[in-house]
Amino acid sequence: MTAIDFDTRLSKVVGDSAKKLEKAFGHRTVGDLLRHFPRRYIDLEHPDSFEDLEEGHVVAFVATVLDVKKLPFRNNPRKFRVVVTLSDGRATMEAVFFNQYAVSKTPVGSQQLLSGEVSVYQGRLQLASPHMRELPEGKTLADLGRGGGAMPIYPAGGGLTTWDVERAVTVALDVVDVFPEPIPAAVRSERGLLDAPTAYEYIHRPRKRSDWVFAQTRLRFEEAFEVQAVFARRRSDSAQRRSLARPGRGDGIRVAFEQRLPFQLTAGQAQVAAEIDQDLAATHPMHRLLQGEVGSGKTIVALLAMLQVVDSGGQAALLAPTEVLATQHHRSMERMLGDLAKGGMLGGADEATRIRLLTGSMGAKARQQALLDIVSGEAGIVVGTHALLEQTVQFADLGLVVIDEQHRFGVEQRSALSDRAAAADGVSPHVLVMTATPIPRTIAMTVFGDLEVSTLRELPAGRQPIQSNVVPVAEQPGWLERAWQRVHEEVGRGRQAYVVVSRIGEATADDDVEPPPDDDAEEKRPTVGLVELAEALEQGPLAGLRLGRLHGRMPPDEKDAVMSAFAAGDVDVLVATTVVEVGVDVPNATMMIVMDADRFGVSQLHQLRGRVGRGSEPGLCLLVTGSPAGTSARERLAAVAASTDGFELSRLDVELRREGDVLGARQSGVRSSLKLLSVVRDEQIIADARDAAVAALDSGDVPPDLEASIRRLEESERAEYLERA
Ligand code: ADP
Ligand code: MG
Repeated sequence: MTAIDFDTRLSKVVGDSAKKLEKAFGHRTVGDLLRHFPRRYIDLEHPDSFEDLEEGHVVAFVATVLDVKKLPFRNNPRKFRVVVTLSDGRATMEAVFFNQYAVSKTPVGSQQLLSGEVSVYQGRLQLASPHMRELPEGKTLADLGRGGGAMPIYPAGGGLTTWDVERAVTVALDVVDVFPEPIPAAVRSERGLLDAPTAYEYIHRPRKRSDWVFAQTRLRFEEAFEVQAVFARRRSDSAQRRSLARPGRGDGIRVAFEQRLPFQLTAGQAQVAAEIDQDLAATHPMHRLLQGEVGSGKTIVALLAMLQVVDSGGQAALLAPTEVLATQHHRSMERMLGDLAKGGMLGGADEATRIRLLTGSMGAKARQQALLDIVSGEAGIVVGTHALLEQTVQFADLGLVVIDEQHRFGVEQRSALSDRAAAADGVSPHVLVMTATPIPRTIAMTVFGDLEVSTLRELPAGRQPIQSNVVPVAEQPGWLERAWQRVHEEVGRGRQAYVVVSRIGEATADDDVEPPPDDDAEEKRPTVGLVELAEALEQGPLAGLRLGRLHGRMPPDEKDAVMSAFAAGDVDVLVATTVVEVGVDVPNATMMIVMDADRFGVSQLHQLRGRVGRGSEPGLCLLVTGSPAGTSARERLAAVAASTDGFELSRLDVELRREGDVLGARQSGVRSSLKLLSVVRDEQIIADARDAAVAALDSGDVPPDLEASIRRLEESERAEYLERA
């Protein structure tokens, strides 16, 4: 008989349950099932008592049901919640369930096993949609524990309960012969980590708290170690790739440009520019992430790098996520460079080059001209959107790829340009990616482990702070009217304003969406759409002002026209969706009103308000919300209003939104691959695993199972995610 290992099909081990496990969770192999780790444990020796509970704690306990109430929602009687009042013998608390008919039939007096996350609703602790199961009559919790004092609670779903999962896991654990061991023995013993068989036994069948704690420590390290091994491998591969050195020269366009810069670089800009100089002068490709606070001036840093490449005879491409942004970059670079951008033209300076724009909406003629300048090398700098990535775009000598607002791009898109260039002649361009969504260090290490990171924390001197206020229309309906008056006042002083909305037109039918458990539970408040709001403002509170509308579904040339008009001061108030979120730079805009601000994430709000206060005038940002006081939405908005530190806010965002989401849906690969590791909490582990992985690969101490893991990651969704030039 062949040995049973992690690759063995589940059907060989758990029989008919295999189908259900595949349907519910996608598990196909023994490994899939054994990596389905418990979400939490009930410590039978030290059960949680209500008195120790705090918001955010994940808890599990047994309680007696005192009362069950079924309460329909006011505005939709077909929907209801069930409130179950529980007692642990000393104190009481409530658990809330949405539209679960079966729960409304829970017998009063029954003993229930509950697990879930403690939240706060209207100032009181509660469990929202916890996992609940009745204990058989006469049984105590201890009767359910097997062979010890702990019970695992598994992520359930697809018709399978934690108990179903546990049963299958137990069978698999009993028969599996070989556990993969990707961590070298030396690495394990240095850190006192459990070996693989013990770790799997303890994570699924702990006898006491310390068992699962040790098991989690080991398996968390394993996750970090595997990811870092992939990065270490990539870094050493990349070090072997060849690039042309682009050291620039002392009498070229870069120096000429620096001499006419209208301002001084901040210390941070100067330092990062120097780091990039050095990278560009090396003969292997730069892979650098430039993260900077909103408005910290990343574009200039990128432009200096691009000019250095031009001075070395190469071309630079700047990839922007939207036409609005690409057009803006093109326009502002031409303006800043002046005659330095008029290469080969009348009135151009000697060192001059050409900047070409390439977007999807360009006419055939303009496009032809741009393509020609790109392939001939006349265009030293090319700015564009996704249109740049098409096969028909050929560069004469692409030396640097800059990607602005990288989080808006998928992985393949980020690497497409440089991969193509490398494939053509074996020489890789240098790559600089920029983001204004600050990424906490550990995420950078986990997600961008093969990038060097530069950070711009300071804003240019003389920048006025942005003041942010929450406008709670539920309690203070009059404040909104006052907000519109403020817009009039700003415009009266020659300034401009943004009004940001969360959607364009009619709300879609989202009747079936379960209300989020934290707030909004009783009413799903309607949001205001761009079309109706702009109309209402034009005829009401903002009558007499010149309003513009901007959203993603407009034809590109219309978008461009509106944006240009706004930049030129011909539009007073821009009513827009989040298309203005990234990069838009109109220093004369001093005020922003965000409607339904509770619909936006923390980092997103920070990005949005970064559009104002970019000049010498102080900025004002009003966060309008209908969320009632005391809800977590209101707390979130208060946090944004209270801090202008993007790094702090992004950390908060990570905590609120659970890791992966911070990087956007397209980048969520890492989320599904990391099971126990938290990129927020486990900074130490990740740093340690990184060192260990580098040392192991350097010394050749790579167990076959680690080699297999690296290969698996390379091939899997995770690898696709990590894939970069
Ligand atoms: P972001 O980092 O958000 O992309 P930008 O590059 O758009 O920021 O820069 C924001 C504004 O600050 C631009 O108008 C730019 O010209 C200006 N700026 C950049 N660097 C400086 C500086 N050192 N001093 C003054 N203004 C600067
Ligand atoms: Mg920018």
